[in-house]
Amino acid sequence: EQIETGNSYSFENVSFHYAKGQEIIQGVSFDTPSGLLTALVGPSGSGKSTLLRLMARFWDYQAGHIWMNGKDIREVQTDSLLSNISMVMQNAYLFRGTIRDNLCFGNESITEEQMIKACKQARCHDFISALPEGYDTVIGEGGATLSGGERQRISLARAFLKDVPILLLDEPTASLDADNEAMVQKALDEISKERTVIMIAHRLKTVRSADQILVLQDGKIIEKGTHNQL
Ligand code: ATP
Ligand code: MG
Repeated sequence: EQIETGNSYSFENVSFHYAKGQEIIQGVSFDTPSGLLTALVGPSGSGKSTLLRLMARFWDYQAGHIWMNGKDIREVQTDSLLSNISMVMQNAYLFRGTIRDNLCFGNESITEEQMIKACKQARCHDFISALPEGYDTVIGEGGATLSGGERQRISLARAFLKDVPILLLDEPTASLDADNEAMVQKALDEISKERTVIMIAHRLKTVRSADQILVLQDGKIIEKGTHNQL
């Protein structure tokens, strides 16, 4: 089956294990309403990244359903699912090529102006423009010549540039300093007015403005609410 445009997920009693007998996600249910920012928090190993991987079908869950626009995502063709989402992983990966290529991914319809806007939002415009070759700087395989925080911000800008309704972000501000983190957070609040953003954070304080916060522990959602409610 195809899915035209999906802009929200609905989890219904989803359980998942990587290895039989070790439930990593245990009967989880929640909705990620469209056009809102949902934050996932919880201790290391609680299953946060696993939930994002299930949303992008890196793995398939064994019980329950993940619905997108009324369809179980296991029944939907992967490319049609993936055309609705953009994902920034915990260890942002860049390929060998120019920064521009890494940002635009061969999409020639992206204008210079759009590219710069996204890089300003992701707080990487300043350091890119300070490089002698700017956006045409060639970076090594895996982004070896950049710091972890720089790679992460480029990969965030790349996600902003992909014209999709859903952004899945795994700790997008983890290697940023406090100032940059606050600025990226502001950009995400702005972006989540138009798109559905699902974001993992380590600490509750980084997701103060989320519309919905899900607290995960041992593969279960133990609390749901806004920052003020929790
Ligand atoms: P962190 O905050 O450290 O990123 P997390 O909440 O994202 O943690 P996950 O990466 O979802 O946690 O991992 C949840 C559990 O699943 C952990 O116990 C982890 O060891 C296990 N796990 C993760 N990936 C795999 C895998 N590919 N195969 C087997 N077990 C895995
Ligand atoms: Mg993780």
